[in-house]
Amino acid sequence: VDEGECVRGRVLRVHGLASVVETDDGRIFRCAVRRLLKSLATDERSVVTTGDVVWIRAARGSTAPAPEPPPSDEPGQVPAVEGVIERVEPRHGVLTRASRRREHVLVANVDQLVIVMSLVEPDLKPHLIDRYLAVAQQGELKPVLCLNKADLADAVELQPLIGLYSQLGIPVFLCSARTGYGVERLREQLRGRSTVFSGQSGVGKSSLLNAIQPDLALAVKSVSEVNQKGRHTTTYSQLIKLDFGGWVVDTPGVRQMQLWDARPEEMEGYFPEFRPFVPLCGFPDCTHTHETDCAVKDAVARRYITSRRYHSYLGLFNGTAEE
Ligand code: GDP
Ligand code: ZN
Repeated sequence: VDEGECVRGRVLRVHGLASVVETDDGRIFRCAVRRLLKSLATDERSVVTTGDVVWIRAARGSTAPAPEPPPSDEPGQVPAVEGVIERVEPRHGVLTRASRRREHVLVANVDQLVIVMSLVEPDLKPHLIDRYLAVAQQGELKPVLCLNKADLADAVELQPLIGLYSQLGIPVFLCSARTGYGVERLREQLRGRSTVFSGQSGVGKSSLLNAIQPDLALAVKSVSEVNQKGRHTTTYSQLIKLDFGGWVVDTPGVRQMQLWDARPEEMEGYFPEFRPFVPLCGFPDCTHTHETDCAVKDAVARRYITSRRYHSYLGLFNGTAEE
């Protein structure tokens, strides 16, 4: 690092007042935040967060380190080279956790959410796909659908399902962690991006991570799972570097895959294929449930909208209406 010159990096994790930053050229710094930045922030905890793109300056007296060693997976063990974070770039794709009083930023600049489903063992649950897609859209994360255990299923039968989600603009990957089928395509989707993995227990998330890169599952300790309350001990978020470029985001934030404070009226927004029909409904605030003059229901009857997706909508609408 030249004196007086800032270098760009990515915050891999935050420990108390120190952030571990990896620069674009692969050096690891342990950074404090410049006091001026702190004074500008409204929420002190979120001045700098995991995933932030930052500009850092090596602290005076510290020498530029060699590109090695790679970041340690052990939290608490932070590299010795000191730096100061001078600037934080604007964020996108922010994952937050609502605590009692305010929202706490868990991780910033998440590019996509990979929804892992298994085709069998456990069986594919299309309604669950739709629920996860709604969660992704609510969090403003680009969803990617990964159908795993392709070695145990008949791909031909899956064509309608793959076609449906592809038409909705969602990248669909058919893969097998066991045989390696589709894994290279998935790597391409991960390259250069930061990605959260989610999916039910047993669908093969750990196996897929390890197929993507050896021992990746070990580094990602809190792979997001539904219905596994209290099983994960990770309370902080971290980025795990992929050796072909990009990061896997390890965060406790999405493990329950809940729709936070979702209002039933929001649901139609998560079903893009409804969009052309909604303005044609007889009532301006049509919920597309019990109403008579409803263009969405009409479109379902005419098979412009699949009835399976419509039933997912009803489930989410009624579910959120009850909550
Ligand atoms: P996780 O709970 O989502 O992390 O799932 P795991 O990676 O632990 O996998 C659950 C089980 O499914 C294990 O017994 C894996 O060996 C198996 N499994 C994972 N991926 C595949 C696959 O592509 N094909 C087959 N046949 N089995 C798989
Ligand atoms: Zn309607």
